[in-house]
Amino acid sequence: MATRRISIMGATGSIGKSALDVVRHANANAGQTFQIVALAAGSDAEGLAAQAIAFNAEIAVISDESQLPTLKTLLAGTDIEAAAGETAIAEAAARPVERMLAAIVGAAGLKSTISAIRAGNDVAIANKESIVCGGKLILSEARRRGVSILPVDSEHSAIFQCLGDGRSLEKLTITASGGPFLTSSLDQMRMASPKQAAAHPNWSMGVKNSIDSATLMNKALEFIEAGFLFDVEGERLDVIVHPQSIIHGMAHFTDGSVIAQLGAPDMKTPISYALGWPDRVPTVVDRLDLATLGRLDFENVDETRFPAIRLARQAYAHGVQATTVLNCANESAVSAFIAGHCGFLDISWIVEETLNRYFSGNMHGIACDTLEEIALLDRFSREMARDVLEKTQRRTGG
Ligand code: NAD
Ligand code: MG
Repeated sequence: MATRRISIMGATGSIGKSALDVVRHANANAGQTFQIVALAAGSDAEGLAAQAIAFNAEIAVISDESQLPTLKTLLAGTDIEAAAGETAIAEAAARPVERMLAAIVGAAGLKSTISAIRAGNDVAIANKESIVCGGKLILSEARRRGVSILPVDSEHSAIFQCLGDGRSLEKLTITASGGPFLTSSLDQMRMASPKQAAAHPNWSMGVKNSIDSATLMNKALEFIEAGFLFDVEGERLDVIVHPQSIIHGMAHFTDGSVIAQLGAPDMKTPISYALGWPDRVPTVVDRLDLATLGRLDFENVDETRFPAIRLARQAYAHGVQATTVLNCANESAVSAFIAGHCGFLDISWIVEETLNRYFSGNMHGIACDTLEEIALLDRFSREMARDVLEKTQRRTGG
């Protein structure tokens, strides 16, 4: 494979760091596979500068503008450019590369992804929230520019690897580990602290993604992500609990064949696939040993304790406006939970109530065809969610 120029938005996070591990190993063992162009992060100037120096990036961009002087000081004496702010991140994402890895957390990542696509850069996309809000826009812009969108989320990478040319597809299945509360009672879940909710049994992830995994909202977002990415209606999308996280996704065909992708639960595999596609890049992850593993278990989702999947089906059936509301209400509710302003079960309740208000309200006129429209609906959704939260606090006396 010729050296491939890549940029990473969200470089200092869990996905960003794993991606740089993949790059380091490939470059050390398979010749100069990747060259880093731009790295961007939220507010960790020290972490970003260290990465930019270690990988000799062209430019490092920090979202938090107050961190720019620190970033500049840390990069003094190198020829690495430093910049700050949302617009600078979008500009960095547009620098010509073969692949831009979208690994910012939350809907905040949408703008740089669209910017990369408009510049003609292929996008390896981990940032599921941006697909849930901007799926229509991302895919239509990508089609228009002839840009490839390569899924990084492990379930979607699995499906991408199983799908072939997509003909004769009957349905898709994504697996869910079930998270830390798979066997907990509703009362235990009600009392759960952010620390307990963020302790995932199989995967090591950023805190927002970990809490989403505990509510199964992560799987709800992935259900919607799969719908948009593979253009499949909700009736042909299944979620199944598989506690070992060995099978990540499956494609079912009209002749009864089911093709599944298996691997150790380590994001380095799907990251490596998305950065290397159509080639495979040698990657350090545990090798699968099925005999030692002994068994793989499966069960249906308990929708009483985990209403998120039902909400995702409902929102996806309504379209991208409702999925945007679901995502932004969830981001707002997760922040409130982390800050101690609501309980664990309130997260899904706030999302459901916000969606109900949206369905019965007067915001249906807002489309999600442009970044501006999505940003507007994002803001309204967070305001509605905050209002619902206040109602929750009155309800619980919190
Ligand atoms: P994380 O919290 O560990 O990292 C987020 C990164 O985004 C950090 O570099 C942070 O500095 C940066 N960031 C945050 N807000 C920003 C902003 N406004 N502007 C610019 N940068 C900003 O999150 P993560 O676990 O690495 O997840 C990243 C994305 O990948 C999420 O959308 C998540 O859903 C998705 N994802 C993660 C995993 C996983 O295993 N961690 C798996 C699949 C998909
Ligand atoms: Mg996933």
